[in-house]
Amino acid sequence: MKNQPNCSWMSPILDRLEELHRELAGATEGDVATYIPELAKADPRWFGICLVTANGAVYETGDSRQPFTIQSISKPFVYGLALEDRGRSEVLAKIGVEPTGDAFNSISLDPRTGRPRNPMINAGAIAATGLIEGKTSQIRLKRMLAMFELYAGRELLVDDAVYQSESETGHRNRAIGHMLRNFGILTDDPIPVVETYFRQCAVSVTCHDLAVMAATLANRGTNPITGEQAIRGEYVESVLAVMGTCGMYDYAGEWLYNVGMPAKSGVSGGVIAVLPGQLGIGVFSPPLDPQGNSVRGIGVCNALSRHWDLHLFNRSSVGNTAIRLKSTAAEFNSKRVRSALETNVLRTSGACISLYQLQGNLTFATAEVVVRNLGENADAIESLILDFKRVMTANESACRLFHDVVCKFAAVGRAVVFTHLDSITPFKRYMKGRLGSRFEELFQVFDDNDAALEWCEDRLLARILPGLPGGEAVGPREYELFSGLPPGDVETIVALLDRRTYQAGETIINAGDEANELFLLASGSVSVILTLASGRPRRLATFSAGMSFGEMAIIDRAPRSAMIIADSPVVCDRLPLEAFAALDVTHPGIKIKLLDNVSRGLSRKLRKANRELAVFE
Ligand code: GLU
Repeated sequence: MKNQPNCSWMSPILDRLEELHRELAGATEGDVATYIPELAKADPRWFGICLVTANGAVYETGDSRQPFTIQSISKPFVYGLALEDRGRSEVLAKIGVEPTGDAFNSISLDPRTGRPRNPMINAGAIAATGLIEGKTSQIRLKRMLAMFELYAGRELLVDDAVYQSESETGHRNRAIGHMLRNFGILTDDPIPVVETYFRQCAVSVTCHDLAVMAATLANRGTNPITGEQAIRGEYVESVLAVMGTCGMYDYAGEWLYNVGMPAKSGVSGGVIAVLPGQLGIGVFSPPLDPQGNSVRGIGVCNALSRHWDLHLFNRSSVGNTAIRLKSTAAEFNSKRVRSALETNVLRTSGACISLYQLQGNLTFATAEVVVRNLGENADAIESLILDFKRVMTANESACRLFHDVVCKFAAVGRAVVFTHLDSITPFKRYMKGRLGSRFEELFQVFDDNDAALEWCEDRLLARILPGLPGGEAVGPREYELFSGLPPGDVETIVALLDRRTYQAGETIINAGDEANELFLLASGSVSVILTLASGRPRRLATFSAGMSFGEMAIIDRAPRSAMIIADSPVVCDRLPLEAFAALDVTHPGIKIKLLDNVSRGLSRKLRKANRELAVFE
């Protein structure tokens, strides 16, 4: 069984389904439908239960693979196809959405509007079948079957015996067809439409199929097992709405009151129930109650709704978990190594660069928490980084709220930048649509927080330290490593240096290389890159002119631990480790000073790492 947990003995979900199956299998109430002669052949003991989650896990028990005809459960799906084919207004012009107390097969239209009252009664369903696009009945049926197959994730066929049986006896539905034709709801010969409707009702499915179809509606139209889209997401709400109000014949109100999920049942004994965003349930058991609903089907859905709190209107707040972590550039910085002066500015003024790590599903309720939190802190924020790495989805209302945040920040000259947006594709599309010509300017996206932080830090440093030279070449006497050395000593050491140039992109050091020298960067910038287990590169540090790298080697002489790449054309002065070691004898004072500077640098790095680790506490 696909997607069924391997160790099914430990699944409390499966346990509950099996328990319910045992409890209800003995029920003797209800009668198998006989008005379509072929349906009377069903075994009243058949009983299957299947639950499929919106992320595709399947739990099933009993006769969950017993084929039967879908009957009225086809109606919401065909209605969805009509909506896709014709659009909402054309469909609404022909079929209402009001529940009715009349029988499902009543030969009447709403006297006020002249339309069938809703698409779940036969008149509305036959009208919906008449709206399906296609030149011939065969093409229309083929398109419907293809649609059912996307929902179920497998090939489906019409049960010909049941179709024939209904066609031979279905005069009432023909009468409905003629009535629809008379009142202009159907515009062509009604008989082929009614025959197509009989065939759509005779599509052979299993309880497992029904649960996958229901889960597809729960997953906004995308089959959670195959990943294929069965209906455009925007129409799912309309399909579920008519199921919610009219799906259970004359029991719809009580059903919504007790079970609280949009649902649909059919005369062959099937029931589907959908909990949007969470799961779909399929039950099959032919004996029907006087309202025409499967007795065990109602029993199962009632019990599951109580047991797992599935009532749609009994939702608890999901509002306060969207912010995973907040930090600022006063505590957490990019991997660009800054000078002591710059570091100081970031420590004292970096609090105006705010990083919000968001998580989970962004909807109105969860995004509102973020927006409100920003509202409380906005005066202190000059640049805002919104990290979507752990965001699973963002719906349209969340997109709208973040769009508004971007615009409000831009209006007061503040920046909003986004990171890790690659899997949240609708977000970018939304922003593009709404920001229009200002998209490039206002929608700033970086791959990761490191790049975003560097950009924000540069912006802050440019404001606080204007005119500070940055990126220019330095002479050997300006190397940080030599600070505090008397000029004469600097000359002694400079004489030992050996100059090298590298092109942009060139590897200066490879991980694992033997360490023979310490590098002093005269111009350009270099990055230390670690290859992660996933194979993706990760920047550990970027150095600019005046700084040194590879200095850990003078302490432990261990092989190089990471790769160093030239980001731009680079000029380096190399201090060979032998020459450095030889200072022991010739100039011990210089050596002590250099080691002093190296250890100062290393301790600065360690402190930064410690400070940043604390952010994650
Ligand atoms: N084909 C059946 C009919 O039109 C479907 C009825 C139902 O399942 O409610 O009578």
